Amino acid sequence: MNKGVFILLPISIILISVILLVSYTDHFSRQREQMVHRQLRARGITDSRTLEAMRNTERHHFVPGSQQRFAYDDRPLPIGHGQTISQPYIVAYMTEIIEPKSHYNVLEIGTGSGYQAAVLAEIVDKVYTIEIIEALGKQAIEVIDKLGYDNIYVKIADGYYGWEEHAPFDAIVVTAAAEHIPPPLVDQLREGGKMIIPVGSPFRVQQLMLVEKKNGRLSTKNLMPVRFVPFRRADD
Ligand code: SAH
Repeated sequence: MNKGVFILLPISIILISVILLVSYTDHFSRQREQMVHRQLRARGITDSRTLEAMRNTERHHFVPGSQQRFAYDDRPLPIGHGQTISQPYIVAYMTEIIEPKSHYNVLEIGTGSGYQAAVLAEIVDKVYTIEIIEALGKQAIEVIDKLGYDNIYVKIADGYYGWEEHAPFDAIVVTAAAEHIPPPLVDQLREGGKMIIPVGSPFRVQQLMLVEKKNGRLSTKNLMPVRFVPFRRADD
């Protein structure tokens, strides 16, 4: 073998790897762009901050390797331990409905993969998120750290009790279906704040509800029928 091969071979291998990596990344960003147009805009998501956050958040990092190629499909996906990451439209809808602002302090119950928390963290100041399944919580922390989010705080606990030290919250997003609205979460919502929560029996169709605290009183509105995994309790 002559000297040229020794030099050219490693250079071509590096070049080919770079090209593959770029086209792979590009492939996902194209899929995200399509997701924003076909699944979100087409169905009435209009908030520019929400659309931008959905465009920027790399959903494929939040799903198991075997699901990555489906990451931008119009459906929920399994994330292990019997749990699911919600369909992109639902994530965008729940983000838009709380009217997130850059100074907001948001609480999420049900970290799961960490994706909804990441979408929120693209817009708001701080996201506090609670997960009851330890393994999922730890996995989410790993992904969140790897992607460099420094405004997401994860706690492994029963989210029924909220996160008192960081209350009041400007908004609360609950991503597991509860049989009733947990009173501690209502207490931790600031005056004028909004909570979005699926309410209803586990494994049945539930109602996605918008809860608002106005002059110390709660107003609730049914938004749409949904199907979420159940809100579990620590002693289940
Ligand atoms: N927001 C998630 C979707 C999570 S699915 C995402 O973007 O991927 C709902 C999650 O709620 C599950 O991971 C489940 O373990 C969690 N969960 C259920 N009951 C809970 C509770 N009482 N406290 C905290 N998390 C809970």
